[in-house]
Amino acid sequence: MLVLKGIPASSGVAIGKAFLFSSEELLIPRRPIAEAEIPAEVMRFEEALIQTRHQILGIQHRLADEMGQEHAEIFNAHLLVLEDQSLREEVLGGLKAQRLNVEYIFNEVVRRYLRAFARTNDEYLRDRTADIEDVRKRILRNLTGRHLDAMGQLDEPVVVIAHALSPSETALMHKRHVLAFVTDVGGRTGHTAIMAKSLGIPAVVGVEVATARIEKEGLIIVDGTRGEVIVDPDPATIRRYEVEQRRIQEVNRQLLQLKDLPAETLDGHRVTLSANIEVPDEIPSVIAHGAEGIGLYRTEFFYLNRTDFPSEEEQFQSYKSVAERLAPQSVIIRTVDLGGDKFLSPLDLPTEMNPFMGWRAIRFCLARPDVFRVQLRAILRASAYGNLKLMFPMISGLEELRRAHEILEGVKGELTREGLAFSPAMDVGAMIEVPSAALTCDLLAGDAKFFSIGTNDLIQYALAVDRVNEKIAYLYEPAHPAVLRLLKQILDAGHQAGIWVGMCGEMAGEPALALLLLGLGLDEFSVSPIQVPLIKKVIRAVEYHTAQAIAQQAMQFRTGKEVEAFLLSHLRQLVPDLAE
Ligand code: PEP
Ligand code: MG
Repeated sequence: MLVLKGIPASSGVAIGKAFLFSSEELLIPRRPIAEAEIPAEVMRFEEALIQTRHQILGIQHRLADEMGQEHAEIFNAHLLVLEDQSLREEVLGGLKAQRLNVEYIFNEVVRRYLRAFARTNDEYLRDRTADIEDVRKRILRNLTGRHLDAMGQLDEPVVVIAHALSPSETALMHKRHVLAFVTDVGGRTGHTAIMAKSLGIPAVVGVEVATARIEKEGLIIVDGTRGEVIVDPDPATIRRYEVEQRRIQEVNRQLLQLKDLPAETLDGHRVTLSANIEVPDEIPSVIAHGAEGIGLYRTEFFYLNRTDFPSEEEQFQSYKSVAERLAPQSVIIRTVDLGGDKFLSPLDLPTEMNPFMGWRAIRFCLARPDVFRVQLRAILRASAYGNLKLMFPMISGLEELRRAHEILEGVKGELTREGLAFSPAMDVGAMIEVPSAALTCDLLAGDAKFFSIGTNDLIQYALAVDRVNEKIAYLYEPAHPAVLRLLKQILDAGHQAGIWVGMCGEMAGEPALALLLLGLGLDEFSVSPIQVPLIKKVIRAVEYHTAQAIAQQAMQFRTGKEVEAFLLSHLRQLVPDLAE
């Protein structure tokens, strides 16, 4: 038995067989085909080759413009791979001889090449392996029309072990087949961890040695609450965790009894308790857990795992259905926040040195009004069907906020001219997740109907701690006095200007911190659907003036650790059955 320590990313316990997932070794579907299907498979292959060629030529043009011809020529080798006749003939021959789907045959042929090249003494050929590998992935992606869905290949429930999981890979996981996941890298507010919470599966990230120490298919236990992974557990440990699983189920069952009760303190101070979603599939869970609407709909998952941009109609239908299903409760749609750890499949963007501080969110949207307007049109049109609100992510100052409003107003004008219905009075707010915005909330308040604090980013920027880097995760402290001061400043400025202030970062879903936020005057808590009952329990266990006194005292401590210990001791007193 071996116990590995990591970062608790999504609570709960799972016991199951390990499945080592590697993005590099994608599972390629293998499907027998009839003779009559061969021409269609050949056609798919030819089209994928043409599409790949266009993409590579596109990259070459861009590189030639931005960095000069020499850099662009590096990609000539990729084009040569595409034009290689013997590769093509082998694939077509294999297709006829083996009668299997073309991505499978193609992958087998290329892997044979790669193995042979790796063994050769010819340095030139050895150097070509990286080019071939790149072309292999591109062609496979084009053949399948999306990133390969290795998760879709699973036919029994497993615990996924991976070095890293991108948010788009996590989005493909299905709760039915993935009991839990464990990664070598990552932090607790990375989008991979957030997705695990949405799926309601336990997760431990930042284990560092998970893929090195966990054998394929061995039994493991994931304790997402403590951040532990137990490899080859002995029978007594398995029994202990089975009891723990039942205890968690019982606690959750009891919490669910609060479903229809309001989120109000013992003395009647009411707050809004809503849920965050990534995809509309989560709506049943939002309703089942008794959330009051949606405080953050992260629309970027629409843009991942595909090779084109989502159309206005596609987005409109989806937003409209979310608005209708939640009405009369409100749904806050956030305009797309691509970049950071959520990479856009169709764009093939060059890797940035500091993606979280780079071309993301509103910065990307303002630079690409063509993409932005399509989304704004879809959101506005959907606003005619329910109680929609909209917010812009990563606002760093007033100019950006005004520019976003200008584009929105332009789109409203267009819709009016076209005679398309929308709600002209839809509330528009700003996410406060950049320190410059936090420090100038008084200046922004006149141009926002509400603020929603994005602590996942705000903390990483305020403390200079990358939210997905496990090496420095110990510095990522929501209770750090610097963070508390920023929060107080945002809340006070918002309230002085007469607007409500919510929080949709993960901090709002931590019971001890929720106590503090309540006391600081937070008006809206938006958390992962499964955390809704938990936070409601905390709010309903305290009098408002007590929470205010706790918050005031918490502001006096000099370290985050002290604040945390102080809040935990109060939580234990107020809700003893929650604290372990
Ligand atoms: C945040 O930053 O707190 C937030 C809610 O947005 P995201 O996690 O999507 O960056
Ligand atoms: Mg954010």
